[in-house]
Amino acid sequence: MTAQLIDGNALSRQLRSEVAQRAAALKTRGTTPGLAVILVGDNPASQVYVRNKVKACEDVGFHSVLEKYDASMTEAELLARVEALNNDPSIHGILVQLPLPGHIDDHKVIETISPLKDVDGFHVASAGALMVGEIGFKACTPYGCMKMLESIGMKDLRGKHAVVIGRSNIVGKPMAMMLLAANATVTVCHSGTADLAAMTRQADIVVAAVGKRNVLTADMCKSGAVVIDVGMNRNDEGKLCGDVDFDGVKEVAGFITPVPGGVGPMTITMLLVNTMEAAERSAG
Ligand code: NAP
Repeated sequence: MTAQLIDGNALSRQLRSEVAQRAAALKTRGTTPGLAVILVGDNPASQVYVRNKVKACEDVGFHSVLEKYDASMTEAELLARVEALNNDPSIHGILVQLPLPGHIDDHKVIETISPLKDVDGFHVASAGALMVGEIGFKACTPYGCMKMLESIGMKDLRGKHAVVIGRSNIVGKPMAMMLLAANATVTVCHSGTADLAAMTRQADIVVAAVGKRNVLTADMCKSGAVVIDVGMNRNDEGKLCGDVDFDGVKEVAGFITPVPGGVGPMTITMLLVNTMEAAERSAG
């Protein structure tokens, strides 16, 4: 193996311990950071995600509230809950776990969350703030990817070419904006890109956020490139794997993130960072 691993677990531990210290300091000033997580329905993957998020909050000394509702909850009832949490001074961050049952409009729910408590960074106001360089909450997964780059000394990306594969509103697009804000030259690829390999071969940094195995193989990478794998898929044995052909790409890349143990833990970590930030802002 030539590539160095960017260890998302180790970086998460470091960042979470910094958050725990900030939380303890804020508590001495009378404010305990609070996160409310809402889960509607019984999607098994969502249940695991929310459990992990609540546990992560407890570990850093936050106050956390998990509200679980039956899939029959109406949209109006959910909007009313979000409004109530918007007005609850003990709650600094609100997260509504997606996907929601089909009869509820995700967009309407996200837009009802106060931008001051939008710690997932999915609100249009948060996306707009990122776009124009104003203060707002950054979407957790791409924010975590940026922290991983920072951890290997890549904070100012002037002169670097970054290729993002995927253009979803929660990963690909905000990722591209954050890379651009860090002065990278950015190319965004998607299912309509004619020759993906021609793009990725020029890249100093590749972020794969597609949701398909082996989207990025060794022949598509420049020697020494930094490869960040956001994908979460299952291989033939049912094991978690990313979008990147890890075994092949690690022989070519300079740095690579593993799956599991890469971007995944960073996403929850950045949720904690955003909630901490929200609590500090509200405390003034
Ligand atoms: P998504 O909304 O399905 O978007 C996938 C993107 O990939 C789309 O933009 C699509 O292009 C593009 N795409 C599909 N096939 C392609 C191909 N052959 N070549 C190039 N681009 C292609 O997915 P998402 O929500 O962004 O998630 C992406 C992956 O990241 C999933 O595996 C998800 O589970 C994972 N994820 C992980 C975390 C984490 O914490 N680790 C967090 C969020 C997501 P079009 O736009 O043209 O359709």
